[in-house]
Amino acid sequence: MSETLFGKILSGAIPCHKVYEDERVFAFLDINPLSAGHTLVIPKEPAPTLDALSDESAAALGRALPRICRAVIAVTGVKDYNVIENNGSAAHQAVLHVHFHIIPKPSRDEGLGIGWPARALDPEAGAKIAAKLREKLR
Ligand code: 5GP
Repeated sequence: MSETLFGKILSGAIPCHKVYEDERVFAFLDINPLSAGHTLVIPKEPAPTLDALSDESAAALGRALPRICRAVIAVTGVKDYNVIENNGSAAHQAVLHVHFHIIPKPSRDEGLGIGWPARALDPEAGAKIAAKLREKLR
C-alpha cells in the first residue's frame, strides 16, 4: 500500500506541529482546525481503519488519548470536547491512516457540529443484532 499523508508526517517528509510521541503513538495539530487545539492522535502502525489495528497499537492509543485530552483541556481552557475517529470515505475519512480527532468545543459555533439522526431501537431487531454481535465476539 502506498504511504499516506500521515505516513509522510511520521517520517518527517511533511512538517507538522507535534504535540506528543511515544513508541507507538504520535500526535500533532490538525492543519485545518475546527477550533484552537484541534489535535490528531495516530498510531505509528499504518492501519487504514480502526478494525485493522493491532491490539498493541490499540492499547497504546487507549493509554495516550486521555492524557492528550487532559493536556488539550489544560492548554485551551476548554473543558468540553469531542473525540471522533472516521472510518471509510462514506464516514468522512479523508486520510487512510487511523486518526483520532480531539476537538475542543468552546462554543456552539466552534468545534465539531454533528448530525445525529437517531431513531428508537426496535426491540426485536435489537435483540437479533446483539445476539449476532455476542456470537461474533465470543
Ligand atoms: P478525516 O476526515 O480523515 O477524519 O480527517 C483528516 C484530517 O487531516 C482533516 O481534519 C485535515 O484537516 C487533516 N489534514 C489533512 N492534511 C493535513 C496535513 O498535511 N497536516 C495536518 N497536520 N493535518 C492535515
